[in-house]
Amino acid sequence: MTYPLPSPDLHSHSTYSDGTLTPEELVARASERGLAVLALTDHDETGGLAAARKAAERVGITLIHGVEISVTWRGHTIHVVGLGIDPASAELEAGLAATRGGRHRRADKIVAAFDELGITGSGEGVREFAANADMISRTHFARFLVTRGHVKDMQGAFKRYLGAGQPCFVPHQWASLGDAIKWITGSGGVAVIAHPGRYPLDTAQMRELLGEFCEHGGAAIEVVTSSHKPQQYAVFAAHAAKFGLAASAGSDFHSPAESYHDLGSLPALPPGLVPVWHMLGI
Ligand code: AMP
Ligand code: MN
Ligand code: MN
Ligand code: MN
Repeated sequence: MTYPLPSPDLHSHSTYSDGTLTPEELVARASERGLAVLALTDHDETGGLAAARKAAERVGITLIHGVEISVTWRGHTIHVVGLGIDPASAELEAGLAATRGGRHRRADKIVAAFDELGITGSGEGVREFAANADMISRTHFARFLVTRGHVKDMQGAFKRYLGAGQPCFVPHQWASLGDAIKWITGSGGVAVIAHPGRYPLDTAQMRELLGEFCEHGGAAIEVVTSSHKPQQYAVFAAHAAKFGLAASAGSDFHSPAESYHDLGSLPALPPGLVPVWHMLGI
């Protein structure tokens, strides 16, 4: 099956992680905006998939079961998306629960860092934004900062406070690359390197990452994502070809107010790539 625009969107978030729309609202928006295929890929969490699937059946779109796993590789935080996973897999669920588990402790340390700067009340504040108390993310802290007027937008929150090296950044050990891929592929899913252009890796390090990713059974790479400028599509298309990886496309939609590419507005994949949705029976 070939797709005229819009092509499938295989990366999005709901209130089960750091999105602002419920799974039902997200699916409704996808349908209204003409998407035929959407993957819900909440961070370290599959709790929203059942509701999203029901909503997708009602409006007649295809919902791909997904997840975005936080990984630490050589000290860098890397995100690995799983597509076509089975949320009932015991090994996957145990792995995700363990990965989420560390977020409580990390959130407490982030609150302490804000207190130290004289920005008080972030602990209670962040809970207003985090519908899932087990999934407190830096995004929720960023929304707290914007709402209280400490910064003017989300970018400012990461630049000044929450990004790597900033005063409220708390280093954290996430899952290993091999474990994340094993949980995904073990549940029948396809592992995808998310938004590779965001990692501060030079070409040699990127090749090492992709080499290890392939050795562990990773099969695809995001080429078109809101994190990439159009010039980067060709860079990651070349990496896909070199490593024999399929190509994915995803908006990484979090919120109508925050996202660079809204649902249904992604550019098509560059020609000559194997779309990852062919591996998902689409
Ligand atoms: P966490 O998993 O809690 O470390 O939070 C990571 C999330 O923060 C990502 O999934 C993005 O949604 C968000 N994020 C990271 N950097 C930025 C940025 N520069 N601007 C906006 N959101 C960001
Ligand atoms: Mn996010
Ligand atoms: Mn990500
Ligand atoms: Mn994401």
